[in-house]
Amino acid sequence: MVYDIKIYGNESLRTVAEPVEVITPEILEILDNMVETMHEANGVGLAAPQVGIAKRMFVVDVGDGIIRKIINPELIELSDVVENEDEGCLSVPGVYKPVKRSVTVKIKYQNEKGEEVIEEGTGLLGRAFQHEYDHLEAILFVDKISPVAKRMVSKKLQLLKKESGRN
Ligand SMILES: [Zn+2]
Repeated sequence: MVYDIKIYGNESLRTVAEPVEVITPEILEILDNMVETMHEANGVGLAAPQVGIAKRMFVVDVGDGIIRKIINPELIELSDVVENEDEGCLSVPGVYKPVKRSVTVKIKYQNEKGEEVIEEGTGLLGRAFQHEYDHLEAILFVDKISPVAKRMVSKKLQLLKKESGRN
């Protein structure tokens, strides 16, 4: 099942997500639906709050052959080396601006079986981990862009907010 993706201005994007207490069949079904939704939208990542579900989980597919379903993540190490690369978000369509992110990040999470996984992500994968994690904290990438970039996209954001309010 493909979910509707919540767009900038929707309250669910500004709600801090709650931990997943038990990995139930329902949770697994949501994760499957999130993967379907992400693929349908040609995204590399999708977090539960983006489909109106305030749970700490996200899915990532950066095209490395692994579809990651990530539950209760923690970023346990962020490299001091940062990169300022263009970023976008399925919830902020049409906006692409550079965001400073750590090049490498170590993430700890539970997989679908409830097993603890520690993984290191570099480049696009590391960036996706950080971007999706931010969604769980109700942070959007446009919060992190430079003041100049913010000014450039402010009209577009106002428009998205207006449209989002109508849904
Ligand atoms: Zn996003």
